[in-house]
Amino acid sequence: MDCGYTGKIDMEHKENILRAIGLHVMTKRMHMLQQLREGLDIYGFSQVMQAKKSAAVCLSPETTSRYVDSHYITSHLAPEMSERGCNKYHKETQILEHFQDLLHELEDATSEDITTVPSVMQWITGHAHRHLLSDCQNFKITVKFDHDCHKMPNHTICYPTVSACTDTIKFPVAHMSDYGSFKNVMTTAIKYGAGFDRA
Ligand SMILES: [Zn+2]
Repeated sequence: MDCGYTGKIDMEHKENILRAIGLHVMTKRMHMLQQLREGLDIYGFSQVMQAKKSAAVCLSPETTSRYVDSHYITSHLAPEMSERGCNKYHKETQILEHFQDLLHELEDATSEDITTVPSVMQWITGHAHRHLLSDCQNFKITVKFDHDCHKMPNHTICYPTVSACTDTIKFPVAHMSDYGSFKNVMTTAIKYGAGFDRA
């Protein structure tokens, strides 16, 4: 009756009752959403949200897409950097740039490529989709850097390790000094992912 239904209440009128409730809920929500949109339009924000959907995804209550793009990953990175300005810091910054470049490259890649942005997400976190809105703000990928593997004698290659339980990735700095080697090491690690996991 709160929804404006005034007819008989019995099983025979079930459809009519449900329709009245549905309509009531819809019109109320539509009005609220319309008002929200008008509010956003004051600063042209709804156009910005439409143009930059991935940036707005954590803000938008209307989010339905759970597809992971490069921005979703990079915007949730929480790198543990060395002291600003030192040599290690410089190398770490470069690796983060390489990582970003690689994600962009994967995003533009053709469908035949095995490694995709969602597969990177899957490899690091154990799942290939976005978090639900409630978890979105708390989600972060901890990025660590291993500067010490060169102390291990007689080895030519190390791969990044991931811990899906804690959403952590650790890059072996010594083996990814330029983009080519970074990409090579990363794609190999992702391809044979399970073998390099450290739970
Ligand atoms: Zn190494």
